[in-house]
Amino acid sequence: MSDFNELFKTADWVQEKHVPVIEVPEKIKKDEPMKITVTVGKEIAHPNTTEHHIEWISLFFQPEGEKFPHTIGRFNLSAHGASAEGPNTSTIYTDSEIVCKLKTSKPGTIMATSCCNIHGLWSSSKQLKVE
Ligand code: FE
Repeated sequence: MSDFNELFKTADWVQEKHVPVIEVPEKIKKDEPMKITVTVGKEIAHPNTTEHHIEWISLFFQPEGEKFPHTIGRFNLSAHGASAEGPNTSTIYTDSEIVCKLKTSKPGTIMATSCCNIHGLWSSSKQLKVE
């Protein structure tokens, strides 16, 4: 069995992009809510069909000097074109981009993980500076 950490890929090996792209301001003000956007397929769109799609994105924050990360949110992307008529018969598709807000008084690391139903688990991280 693989080590759990080895299951998360961080570099792309197929044409479409899977690595979650985290967008936050370079620096934030202490205790002021800031917007975090995470996109899977930012440069090259990831397919979104009943057969092949991004199932979820999870977001964590590891404040500097603390032992464990905090879960910021889990986002299930649940509409992928299926309907009672069968696969890819509806017009409803969730896109693999999530937005949430966070405030903190500490700098740290934002970590995102995502899951493609065909290509597995992916992760990325970004430093957050607080002034
Ligand atoms: Fe995929």
